[in-house]
Amino acid sequence: MNEELRALYQEVIIDHGRHPRNFKKLEGYSCCQEAYNPLCGDRLTLYLKLDKDKILDASFEGGGCAISMASTSLMIERIKNTRISEAQQLFDSFHHLVTAPDSGADVSAPLGKLKVLGGVRDFPTRIKCATLAWHALKAGLENVDHDKSVSTE
Ligand code: ZN
Repeated sequence: MNEELRALYQEVIIDHGRHPRNFKKLEGYSCCQEAYNPLCGDRLTLYLKLDKDKILDASFEGGGCAISMASTSLMIERIKNTRISEAQQLFDSFHHLVTAPDSGADVSAPLGKLKVLGGVRDFPTRIKCATLAWHALKAGLENVDHDKSVSTE
């Protein structure tokens, strides 16, 4: 990665870290999921508003380091208005981005701006900061009661 691009990526992380987007409690959310990273002290609550197989809206509250705040902010921008199945694929892509050795190939295209976080792969202690929001997302989606309308009565 050239220096100019690295500086630009750094700028996006600092911006989202200091001014996270969608930082609020979501009215009428379908599910909320807490997540905690004891290694760094990052703590967040993710709110999701779902309609069948789609993520209509999302937001979060919490506090932590710039990486965790930026990662959560960027993730929420990316997953709004996507299908749940797509969000689950993004989880895998993001996990690969921050944990797999840089192969040089651009496998991260669907991640968009989230690519700025790829640099954390060089800092193993920060990987959990970057993936915290994604684990909250995965757990939140898995815990949603998809069959709320189904009754055995
Ligand atoms: Zn952190």
